[in-house]
Amino acid sequence: MNSKEFRRHLHRNPELSFKEFDTQRFILDALRAEGIECRAIATTGVIAKIEGNRGNLSRAVVLRADIDALPVKELNDIDFKSEREGVMHACGHDIHAAVLFGVLQQLNRERNFEGTLFGIFQPGEELNPGGAVKVLAEEPFEGYTVAAVIGEHVDSHLEIGEVGICPGRFMAANDELRLYVTGRGGHAARRAEINDTVTAMCEMVVMTTSLNAHESVVSIGRVIADGATNVIPDKVTAEGTMRTFDAERREHIHTLLRNNAKSIAERYGVEVEVDINHGYPCVVNDVMLSYEAMIVAQDEGIAVRQIEPLATAEDFGYYTERYPSLFYRLGVGSAAGGAHTATFLPDEEAIAVGERMMRRLALHILNK
Ligand SMILES: [Zn+2]
Ligand SMILES: [Zn+2]
Repeated sequence: MNSKEFRRHLHRNPELSFKEFDTQRFILDALRAEGIECRAIATTGVIAKIEGNRGNLSRAVVLRADIDALPVKELNDIDFKSEREGVMHACGHDIHAAVLFGVLQQLNRERNFEGTLFGIFQPGEELNPGGAVKVLAEEPFEGYTVAAVIGEHVDSHLEIGEVGICPGRFMAANDELRLYVTGRGGHAARRAEINDTVTAMCEMVVMTTSLNAHESVVSIGRVIADGATNVIPDKVTAEGTMRTFDAERREHIHTLLRNNAKSIAERYGVEVEVDINHGYPCVVNDVMLSYEAMIVAQDEGIAVRQIEPLATAEDFGYYTERYPSLFYRLGVGSAAGGAHTATFLPDEEAIAVGERMMRRLALHILNK
């Protein structure tokens, strides 16, 4: 099977996050048909291992692709259209998996490298807490020195034949915020007898959004104070999101939010609760690795664009926390349309470019 056929099979048979059972079976079968050692990981994922023909086998490079699809009903008119109602590979993870399969296929035949190569077909990228956590919890690289973890994402802002690389901070940590103010509501005209939960929340919201700064975002998009013209409610709720590009700043904002809550609670005589639903950590690319990848790409005849940080999140951040890592963007052409839409359709020609990039980069690091 070639990587295009592999991709089309996945596209036709998409599965939602953490439900990639058929996908897993298909990948295991395809790898085994190539004689590649592999097994299940993180319940519905796959880990493959290929040893080079020389060198220190305890030094490893990890290539990672995600494999889950989205709850979107596909509207593309193609002969490999999704055959599963309401589920679609609308984020291009079928392309990522195909590129990884193609690279493993080639390198398994060649074996002309030092050390060990791992391939991770990771489940559940689209759903918090993310499949990366489950993969790493199994400590699959124990006993190895991981020289690099490499991942990619398709990008329709880049043309085919281009990759986008951002050295250092690349993608944001994404936390959901929920604020609750609770007190004694009552008649709006009897202010001495009530706690003004609404004003307390207003002040909390203003203090929260004043934490916005360069390279971090704090926004509140939903406030519910369901009283009446003359009724102050017992409880007011607010919801929002925060995006940060480094772990320290992220922790700092969490602390400031809790301190603000304490001060408002004291001043208004109310209870203020800050509930932070931790999303994925920031994707921070290894700077050296980023520049090496740029050189490798140019050697391979692939155009490189140095790109700006993105405020979107990716569970690849869990790998970047632990190992020197690089996550880059693979151009699939503007005609692909927008990711997460019913008509997203990356150009298959990008698979070959992705394979050349990932193969060359893996060899470069392994043989260093
Ligand atoms: Zn996505
Ligand atoms: Zn994605």
